[in-house]
Amino acid sequence: MEPEYIALVKETEICKNCKNIVVGKGNLNADILFVGEAPGKNEDEQGLPFVGRAGKNLDELLFKVGLSLEDIYIANILKCRPPENRDPLPEEIRAHTPWLMEQIKQIKPKVICSLGNYATKFFLSGGDVDNMDKQPGITSLHGNIRFVDIGGIKIKLIPLFHPAAIIYKRDLIPLWEKDMEIVKKEVKENQAKLF
Ligand code: URA
Repeated sequence: MEPEYIALVKETEICKNCKNIVVGKGNLNADILFVGEAPGKNEDEQGLPFVGRAGKNLDELLFKVGLSLEDIYIANILKCRPPENRDPLPEEIRAHTPWLMEQIKQIKPKVICSLGNYATKFFLSGGDVDNMDKQPGITSLHGNIRFVDIGGIKIKLIPLFHPAAIIYKRDLIPLWEKDMEIVKKEVKENQAKLF
């Protein structure tokens, strides 16, 4: 029988209308998990996260700090594309995030980088979707490490701007690069602990 967290996603309207369920990509043994918002058109077509323009930005930013898909895993809050890329609805976040929590339990990342407002607010609210609105926005939080507890799982969170934001706001690039240096430092520290 199908796990409950998959059944919950499949029951949502956006899942009935999408081409592919986008689960994630990267290394399931990675120390770092990146969490975005939801698949867009390209992601829906290919069944993989961050393969469109935002993905190209993310690849470039990762490359600049010496990271690749070998070092990270990437998933989203929503596993299916909302029509016209509209914002996720609270009931969709409620139905899709148990799958994300399963991924976190499986990957056991040392650090989670939340990309943009939705992912950041989800983790900061401890997974309480009704409280997401009350969380501060990414502009004031980006690059600041936070420790959060979500369903008993302790998470070291690094909020980052969403790579799609960089498409329109090029002045965010230096801030993003600075934030990525923090991510890189975390990776190095974790690697050092292995030796
Ligand atoms: N934006 C996201 O948040 N996720 C994707 O997979 C693609 C674009």
